[in-house]
Amino acid sequence: MNKTKRYLAYNDSVRVVAIDATEMVQTLRDIHSLSNLATAALGRVAIVSAMIASTLKNNDDRLTVQIKADGPLGMIVVCADKNLNIKGYVSNPNVELPLNSDGKLDVSKGIGVGTLTVIKDIGLKEPYIGTCELLSGEIGDDFAYYFNVSEQTPSVVSVGVLIGKDGKVEKAGGYIIQPLPECEEKVIDKLESINIKLPSITSLMSEGRTIDDIAINSTGDSNIKTVYEDNAKVKCDCSIERIENTIIALGKEEALKIINENGKLELSCNFCNKKYSFNEEDILSLFKRKNK
Ligand SMILES: [Zn+2]
Repeated sequence: MNKTKRYLAYNDSVRVVAIDATEMVQTLRDIHSLSNLATAALGRVAIVSAMIASTLKNNDDRLTVQIKADGPLGMIVVCADKNLNIKGYVSNPNVELPLNSDGKLDVSKGIGVGTLTVIKDIGLKEPYIGTCELLSGEIGDDFAYYFNVSEQTPSVVSVGVLIGKDGKVEKAGGYIIQPLPECEEKVIDKLESINIKLPSITSLMSEGRTIDDIAINSTGDSNIKTVYEDNAKVKCDCSIERIENTIIALGKEEALKIINENGKLELSCNFCNKKYSFNEEDILSLFKRKNK
């Protein structure tokens, strides 16, 4: 279970979201055969995306997070919906780099210099698009910076993925703390001083703390209220219709040419790696059906 919970602290003046995403990140690792570095990078982006998705209001609301940067991992894309169905990929899933000077996976170097873009499709005519430069490429810092500059919401963002010696995701999780407009200055100061000293989320989880404990520890408020609870899961919504649209965009002539050369036309979904295969007959009937 990838439990995701939202809380209110300090008499409803502080919002907290926390997630235990251990299984979710393991599933992403399994689907894409991710290296340790790619597991940490895609995992961290997926964890924060799930937490943001838990704040969407309507069933049809969609979130897309894109990281476009110049590091060896390439692009990272994660999509999520209000029901916490998560899918994501990283362009180069096999990249591994030497550990950084702290002995940790060097996510910052793997990602490189670039931008973070958050797209929220909340049923308006145009989606909301916010973008900012990456601050460190460590993901947690980058999202905190994004919330601050693009959404004018000062936030604490903690996110982590711990991979065991056996190559399994041992712990993965995160939390976001956001003071609401009515929050008192002294509470904000307190949140800052607590979070500067707090160990990483994966250390807290390794000590056996639940996300409820972590929400209390990270806010210093033992009277937090749970206001939302759901489970995040990796689920792709790709379909034959969507793949067919790609083939139509490719054009009948080009599609037939590929089949001529390779015996078949095979497309796979970036998000779940499911393969869709077409032969000449399939292509002819597809274009006939669509009158193209
Ligand atoms: Zn798919």
